[in-house]
Amino acid sequence: MADAPVLLEHPSSLAHDTAPHPEQPARMVAIDRELSARDWLGYERVRSPAVERATLAAVHPESHIALIERTALAGGAAIDADTIVSEGSFEAALHAAGGAVALVDLLLNGSAPCGFSAHRPPGHHAERARAMGFCLFNNVAVAAAHALDAHGLERVMVLDWDVHHGNGTNDIFHADPRVLFVSIHQSPLYPGTGPAADVGSGEGSGYTVNLPVPPGSGDDVYCSLVDGVAVALARAFAPQLVLISAGFDAHSEDPLADCEVTEEGFAAMTRSMRGVCAELEAPLGGVLEGGYALAALGRSVAATLQALSAAPRPGSAEQAALDLAPEARMARERLVERWPALAL
Ligand SMILES: [Zn+2]
Repeated sequence: MADAPVLLEHPSSLAHDTAPHPEQPARMVAIDRELSARDWLGYERVRSPAVERATLAAVHPESHIALIERTALAGGAAIDADTIVSEGSFEAALHAAGGAVALVDLLLNGSAPCGFSAHRPPGHHAERARAMGFCLFNNVAVAAAHALDAHGLERVMVLDWDVHHGNGTNDIFHADPRVLFVSIHQSPLYPGTGPAADVGSGEGSGYTVNLPVPPGSGDDVYCSLVDGVAVALARAFAPQLVLISAGFDAHSEDPLADCEVTEEGFAAMTRSMRGVCAELEAPLGGVLEGGYALAALGRSVAATLQALSAAPRPGSAEQAALDLAPEARMARERLVERWPALAL
C-alpha cells in the first residue's frame, strides 16, 4: 500500500449541479475518461470520506457551514453570480474537503508516497465566512489546517498555480507563519487580489508570496517561477508537507484566462516540486482547483499525476533556476530581504 500513489475521489462531485456553468460535472468525467484510458497511471483510487464537521470548523465558522447546508437542503440557490449551490452541493463540498484531508492523512501516516484529490467544487477562492468564485469551502486550507492541528506539523507549504489568485487561502493564513502560501496567477484577472506587495501580515509577514504574471505567460514563466522561486522558498522554509492548489486554467486552451501553459508545463512544475520535496523528505499532494477546457484538463491532470508519482529527481530545478525569466528574477530581488537564501 505504501508504494501506491493515491487518487481521492467521490461520486458526489457529479451531484454539484451548476449548469450551464463552466465549473461543471463534465470536468470530473473528462478527468476520469483520460485517467481510465491510461489505466489510472498506477494510482490506487480511494473513495473520499466526508470531512468531519470539527475539521471544517477549524477554517470556516459554523454560520458559513450552516448557510451552505441550509441552501442545499432548500433545493439550492446562487450565492453570487459565479457561485451556485444545488441540492447535492453540500454533500459534494463535504467530500471535496474530506478528500483533501484524507490525502493529508495518507501522506503523513506514510500510507502513500504522494497523491491527488480530484473533486469539485474547487476551494481556493472560499474565504473563512464567504463562498465565492465557484468555491464553497476552502479544501486546501482545511487540509493544511488539519496537518497543523491533527498531525502537529509546524510548517506547511501551499503552492497555488491556478491561473486565478487563491484569495481565500491567502487570507486564511495571512497572519500565520506556519503556512507558506505561494501563488502564481494571471494579473489582471478575477478576483483582482494578490499583488506582489501583499506579503502577509503580523507574524505571517513574509509567509505570503504573490507572483502575478501578465496575460500570455506560458511554460517558461511558470516553470521559472517554480524552479527559481517556489523551489528556493521551499528549501529556505523546509516544509514538512507541500500541497499544490492545482488548477489547470492557466492552460493555453482554457476559456476563462489568457495564459499559455501546456500539459508538459504542468508536468515540469510537478517534477520540480517532487524533486525538492524528496530532498526535504516532505510529502507532496495535489488538490484540484480550476480548469475549464475539458480535454486539456484531462490531459493536464494525467501529466501532473504521472510526474507526481515518477521517481523524484532531486536538484532537477537547479539548471532551470540558472536562467531565470525576468518575472522570477524580479521576484527574487523583491523577496531577498525576508528570504536571504534567494539572493542571486
Ligand atoms: Zn482558477
